[in-house]
Amino acid sequence: MAEPARISPSPKLRYCVFCGSSAGHRTEYSDLARALGREIALRGAELVFGGGKVGLMGILADEVMASGGRAIGIIPEALALKEVAHHGLNELRVVDTMHARKAAMAELADGFIALPGGVGTLEELFEVITWAQLGVHRKPVGLLQVNDYWGPLLAALDHAQAEGFVRDEHRRMLIVEGDPAALLDRFAEYEPPAVPKWLRPDDV
Ligand code: AMP
Repeated sequence: MAEPARISPSPKLRYCVFCGSSAGHRTEYSDLARALGREIALRGAELVFGGGKVGLMGILADEVMASGGRAIGIIPEALALKEVAHHGLNELRVVDTMHARKAAMAELADGFIALPGGVGTLEELFEVITWAQLGVHRKPVGLLQVNDYWGPLLAALDHAQAEGFVRDEHRRMLIVEGDPAALLDRFAEYEPPAVPKWLRPDDV
């Protein structure tokens, strides 16, 4: 029998969201961040995110809290000092480094979602995808799509798969939906692929 995909000491599900510290040029991006925030709150789940008040990060966290949900931010000291931290959150954890932040976000979360964002979002997304394919965690990873924002990235992944650099089962792991409710429903059904035990969680 497959192991459960979600292992968390929290009685509530927590979704870690990576997203832009900018809001992008189109209102669809902010609208999608708000829709996700409402859906997380509606399900009685919690948001874990980078703790910034700027861009889609701030829009998402504000919507979670306005909808009655709980938002936990994890921010490195250097960014907190630059006054970009969101001090209106239910919980703001200030950690020493970017690495400590990502480790804390990964540990707290039951699943990972990327909204549109820039290089920071991509870096965070690819780390959790890499850890998933190594079997370091067994949690779902998904993209919320709007205006075909992720189309070029998905095409690059398809190319890497076609050329033999990404395994088919690893390519299939990444869940893509345009509707937050549909994405979270698929998270609930997620079965991690069987991967060779190259690494154990204790090894990292
Ligand atoms: P980017 O997509 O380049 O805007 O970077 C956004 C991602 O990097 C977020 O998911 C954050 O975790 C982190 N990040 C980048 N800029 C900030 C900021 N000003 N405040 C907090 N976190 C940030």
